[in-house]
Amino acid sequence: MENMNWSDLTFGYIKTDYNVRCYYRDGKWGELEVSSSEILNLHMAATCLHYGQEAFEGLKAFRGKDGKVRVFRMDENAKRMQASSRGLLMAELPVEKFEEAVRKAVRLNERFIPPYESGSSLYIRPLLIGTGAQVGVKPADEYLFLVFVTPVGPYFKEGFKPTPVCIMREYDRAAPHGTGNIKAGGNYGASLVAGNKAKEAGYSAVLYLDPREKKYLDECGPANFFGIKDNCYITPQSTSILPSITNMSLMQLAEDMGLTVERRSVPVEELATFEEAAECGTAAVIAPLSRIDDLDENKSYVYSTDGKPGPVCEKLYKKLRGIQYGDEPDTHGWVQVVL
Ligand SMILES: *Cc1c(COP(=O)(O)O)cnc(C)c1O
Repeated sequence: MENMNWSDLTFGYIKTDYNVRCYYRDGKWGELEVSSSEILNLHMAATCLHYGQEAFEGLKAFRGKDGKVRVFRMDENAKRMQASSRGLLMAELPVEKFEEAVRKAVRLNERFIPPYESGSSLYIRPLLIGTGAQVGVKPADEYLFLVFVTPVGPYFKEGFKPTPVCIMREYDRAAPHGTGNIKAGGNYGASLVAGNKAKEAGYSAVLYLDPREKKYLDECGPANFFGIKDNCYITPQSTSILPSITNMSLMQLAEDMGLTVERRSVPVEELATFEEAAECGTAAVIAPLSRIDDLDENKSYVYSTDGKPGPVCEKLYKKLRGIQYGDEPDTHGWVQVVL
């Protein structure tokens, strides 16, 4: 694309040329269809509008120094969307169909894939919604799966910089055995009030505690949490955490680097013992935390005061980004070259 300032992109929506759609009707999935419209024609009684039959995914395509375009671990996104389908009684899309739709959406919108040097990438948003009409609370008999893409800028415009988050006990994003472990839009609806309040107070996100006892760490609004101490990568285990593919990948890379990895309940007080703390997810890979303010207990846990991330976060970040852009060898078979 000419006239595009690739490095100035934000994490916003920019119209691209095509999206890919697939309909589930009469008990089966149809063929992939290509659309150039941004608009959906939807029944007003569709279950996605009334009863929350909606799940989404998020992944990225990266243009390498070699000009090739790589997509990161999309089989994991496909499997996670199937888990979301089981959690919300929606039709399950086969993994192969998911991957085919992603490849098609990326290839058809090639002119929107940012160049390597910009540090930008192509964000891919798969969406699954119940489109069949129901008035009673029942799953729909028709579904729409679609994939759209939009170019997004580098998460850290001024470099890889730590930000503060806060703990607020009066809000939960999910219930102990609710939908926290699946990627349902409803979890985000539930997190908007707390998220807004945190942002107004100068925090980048809320760090949620386990909704049952408020004793253990869960995750940040849209990203998992991990801490580093004594050469150990520690990330919370809970029934209400979304299994992040970035976190899963970082656990593997940490192990490759000789760290021990622990996935277990993490009591809030343990925050005082971490040398580094961070959020992780597709958007930023790693967003290091400068500080965690426990607003109810009037306590602060500080990890960085000089605006710089810790050495382990930095190393993990460089490694994972290197694999995604094709600068580092893909020893685990995580990337698929699509162009
Ligand atoms: C998507 C998401 C994440 C991050 O998952 P990735 O697969 O790493 O992008 C973390 N937490 C929540 C609540 C999410 O919805």
